[in-house]
Amino acid sequence: MVFPGSTEEVAAVLQLATQRGVPVIPRGAGSNLCAGTVALQGGIVLALTRLDRILELSPSELLARVQPGVTSAALASAAAAEDLLWAPDPGSRTVATVGGTIATCAGGLRGLKYGVTRNYVLGLEAVLPTGEVIRTGGRLNKDVAGYDLTRLLTGSEGTLAVITEATVALRPAPETTGTGVAYFPTLADAGRAVAAIIAGGLLPATLEFLDRTCVNAVEDFAHLGLRTDAGALLLFGDDGEPDATQAALARMSDACVVAGALEVTTAAQVTEAEALLAARRCTLPALSRLGALTILEDATVPRPRIAEMVERIGGIADRYSVPIATFGHAGDGNLHPTCVLQSPDDTEAVQRAELAFKDIFAAALELDGTITGEHGVGAAKLPYLAQQLGQAQMSLLRRLKAAFDPAGILNPGKLGS
Ligand SMILES: Cc1cc2nc3c(=O)[nH]c(=O)nc-3n(C[C@H](O)[C@H](O)[C@H](O)COP(=O)(O)OP(=O)(O)OC[C@H]3O[C@@H](n4cnc5c(N)ncnc54)[C@H](O)[C@@H]3O)c2cc1C
Repeated sequence: MVFPGSTEEVAAVLQLATQRGVPVIPRGAGSNLCAGTVALQGGIVLALTRLDRILELSPSELLARVQPGVTSAALASAAAAEDLLWAPDPGSRTVATVGGTIATCAGGLRGLKYGVTRNYVLGLEAVLPTGEVIRTGGRLNKDVAGYDLTRLLTGSEGTLAVITEATVALRPAPETTGTGVAYFPTLADAGRAVAAIIAGGLLPATLEFLDRTCVNAVEDFAHLGLRTDAGALLLFGDDGEPDATQAALARMSDACVVAGALEVTTAAQVTEAEALLAARRCTLPALSRLGALTILEDATVPRPRIAEMVERIGGIADRYSVPIATFGHAGDGNLHPTCVLQSPDDTEAVQRAELAFKDIFAAALELDGTITGEHGVGAAKLPYLAQQLGQAQMSLLRRLKAAFDPAGILNPGKLGS
């Protein structure tokens, strides 16, 4: 493992690795969920966590310039101190680095209203596997000089270059945030409420859902007083000017009632709203406590097809007799079906879970979705990628990879390899 302290050190490591043909695995916090930082073929794990400085924060230009090892939460609080918002908001933000967040093009809890990480990357400094340093984009919103390498590197999962600095866009912080909770008989009912909220002309900042297993796990973990007898919970919310936020919350509550909610409440205070969001963020750790092996995926479908996808996941879980709980970013159609098994040594159960997920990915593709909405391909989903992209696109991906990384040293065995 190497912990470089500068761009020059990153360049020296990569140059040497290319000369010797040694794999290099870039790593931020290692919180990815697709085996993206596993050194499958050995080699050098290049941890960027020492590069953790915020180099500049410009309220007049609405941007920040940061090193890759700054955590998303640190950037968000530095921005908040200037009444600004760093919008990308993965559930792992307290540990996830900005470099890793850009390299995975992470989504998170604000995707519907604010978009995902790629919408906020203005420019990058990156080191190619040969050791050459490039600067893509810059400080501008408008810049169409050359191919858009900033976008190509965003979401490239450490397979094309190592990000050593990023210039990212910030937004003015919203004046206020409001959050509500609705309980439904089933997850499919919650899916229908989501469709009704958006069809009603609203663009919520938060629209997250949890099924009964997830709600129970979160309640056991965080003791928030959540109702545990309902089939699903929908967390909805908005931010902005106070009156408009309250009006939007009222309309979302009404839409939930019309869609058959058992109960709807809105958080009276910001602290309560934040506690609810924190509860949603802890769903994965809460579920993981239920067993010894957690397999979490992020099949994503167009929003109107959420209810259908949820029903398909239920059918697949029954067919393979595996427990699958589902939560996710409902506003983005981004589902996290999660299977928790009691023992990784129960190979028969693990095999059934793998077959179930294979069918879940196939179902997502049939419904015009994707095998991964935000977690990335890594090594975990590489076997399914060709099914989505087709052979012509796969070979273009490989040619792009070879153009950046002629010796094939950067994160081999992952996306594009
Ligand atoms: C509890 C939990 C909740 C999560 N919630 C979300 C969520 O809501 N939304 C979401 O999208 N993801 C989520 N994730 C997944 C993950 O946390 C994010 O993708 C995160 O942004 C990764 O950041 P990291 O620093 O941990 O990157 P790592 O895991 O270290 O790396 C991720 C990938 O990026 C590459 N990489 C890292 N740094 C660099 C660099 N400087 N240059 C080039 N490549 C690099 C790595 O090689 C790897 O392929 C969650 C994970 C957990 C554990």
